Amino acid sequence: VWCVERESGGLTVHALLGPEQRESVALHADAVLLATGGYETVLPFPGWTLPGVVTAGGAQAMLKGGLVTPGRTVVVAGTGPLLLPVATGLAAAGVRVAALVESTHPARLPRHARALAGKLPEAAGYAARLLRHRVPVLTRHTVVRAHGEDRLTGVTVAALDAGGRVRPGTERLLPCDALAVGHGMLPHTDLAETLGCRLDGHAVAVDAEQRTDVPGVWAAGEATGIGGAALALAEGHIAGRSIAARLRGTAPDPDAWAPAARVRARGRTAAAALHALHTPP
Ligand SMILES: Cc1cc2nc3c(=O)[nH]c(=O)nc-3n(C[C@H](O)[C@H](O)[C@H](O)COP(=O)(O)OP(=O)(O)OC[C@H]3O[C@@H](n4cnc5c(N)ncnc54)[C@H](O)[C@@H]3O)c2cc1C
Repeated sequence: VWCVERESGGLTVHALLGPEQRESVALHADAVLLATGGYETVLPFPGWTLPGVVTAGGAQAMLKGGLVTPGRTVVVAGTGPLLLPVATGLAAAGVRVAALVESTHPARLPRHARALAGKLPEAAGYAARLLRHRVPVLTRHTVVRAHGEDRLTGVTVAALDAGGRVRPGTERLLPCDALAVGHGMLPHTDLAETLGCRLDGHAVAVDAEQRTDVPGVWAAGEATGIGGAALALAEGHIAGRSIAARLRGTAPDPDAWAPAARVRARGRTAAAALHALHTPP
């Protein structure tokens, strides 16, 4: 979909229905639910375009898609919960994970422990797997440079001070042939923005029914804020029920989606804590 337009009789979605199609088709709809997801962000550093440097999500996709690994010795770096499945997944696939480099300071965790209580068993599982595979974990560290001529041969990592700046004299070289790096995700909002939907920070703003401020347009999932699969599913469920009711000309009954609303509330609280914990340096 490259564009959604609002017209007097409803909405028109301009879409290409496959890679062969050159002319877009126009589909008319009374309601549109935008579920465009999010995209990974990476903070740039010297050498970040060298072959061998991939995003954390890219490494995960390679692994899940065809059991392909980005290298034999990999450094996983950046910040955010995605680094954990990437590092443990690579280690389980037989890759030597030279280090998991996370810029967050673990001392910030207790501040968010309550909001993240539901996530702790999952986090403990990852910690056990990191230990089992003997993956060194460097917290409050960051990658400052990737080295190599025509492909990656190593990365320099350094410790961060409380303000998120590199502490001089702490640089050290980690030889590796791949770096999987990611600094979180951002909502994909371009379709919503072309429609004129209001944003709340980086995300599409929605009400309790997942409606945007543009009549006939709903949004759900990571487009409305990064928070994981369970939150995206709950929002999609609520949006679907709201659309079904509104198209029948009735007001939806929020009791019909009460369980999903609880998942959404918990998911948003945990997501806010994770974002605060994993603010990139
Ligand atoms: C590598 C990786 C690992 C993850 N692991 C976990 C995990 O272990 N647990 C967890 O809870 N969450 C995980 N997540 C997050 C989880 O995938 C998301 O929370 C969830 O998929 C969000 O659902 P969504 O429907 O909002 O977006 P998505 O599932 O991303 O779907 C959005 C879709 O919209 C399509 N799209 C975007 N723009 C357009 C357009 N203009 N036209 C047509 N199509 C468009 C995209 O191609 C995509 O297919 C992971 C994410 C990544 C990247």
